[in-house]
Amino acid sequence: MIVKFWGTRGSIPTSGPNFMEFGGNTPCLSIRLKSTDEMIIFDAGTGIRELGMDILKSNPDCKTLHLFLTHAHWDHIQGFPFFGPAYHPDYKVNVYCTKTAEEFLAGQMAPPYFPVGLEAMPALNAFHVLSHDETTSIGNAKIRNMPLPHPQESTGFRIDESGTSFVFATDTEHEPPHMNEQLVKFATDCDALVYDAQYTESEYFNGRQGWGHSTYNEGVRLAQSAGAKKLILFSHDPTHDDAVCLDIEQKAQELFPDAVAARQGLILSLP
Ligand SMILES: [Zn+2]
Repeated sequence: MIVKFWGTRGSIPTSGPNFMEFGGNTPCLSIRLKSTDEMIIFDAGTGIRELGMDILKSNPDCKTLHLFLTHAHWDHIQGFPFFGPAYHPDYKVNVYCTKTAEEFLAGQMAPPYFPVGLEAMPALNAFHVLSHDETTSIGNAKIRNMPLPHPQESTGFRIDESGTSFVFATDTEHEPPHMNEQLVKFATDCDALVYDAQYTESEYFNGRQGWGHSTYNEGVRLAQSAGAKKLILFSHDPTHDDAVCLDIEQKAQELFPDAVAARQGLILSLP
């Protein structure tokens, strides 16, 4: 399983010389499986624009794309109108979400927000409304989901394929001092856990409780409890420049050596 990060930033895209290492695109990951050329995509933040260009240019065998959306907050869907393969009749794009994605994706492209609507995307094949006890099969991979505490609720996803497992859990808030035991169970023994580390603890406890995000400290606690092999800190706050992200990464590594702060362009090859 090969995971690539096309966008790692929470809330809003950022740019500038101090944001070059971790990048400014909002969430989007691509996952290549061992068992099929079909691609899994997590979230359609602004990172999906570059992923779309890469698919069109460099992946001629990859024509079926499965887009799983965590939730409808703008930073997770705002790249979708710029996702090139959706406009190309040779492709098939299947969208999965626990909410009615067709409605909110059409909404953000409706007048006066965007010049064309969803009908301009011939590759859109199907919209699946997922239930939380549902397992989706793609190739030999099984994709499960769970609700994550977040305003309007987010969704965590876990992919298991031939003994390799990957968990994507972003846009979620913990409830100190309790750990999200359901998430610990969901992420048990995974090869890699991506977790919302938008705030430092000092930011979190000084005015950002209830905003729906978490900290690297909580990510470390969860990764340790779940027995995750690797922890990837994700959803960097737009005010956190490279120096802040590096500092967070270093502090997390002191507690959990196999932690890394996600960089735009990071590739994980999971066994
Ligand atoms: Zn959100």
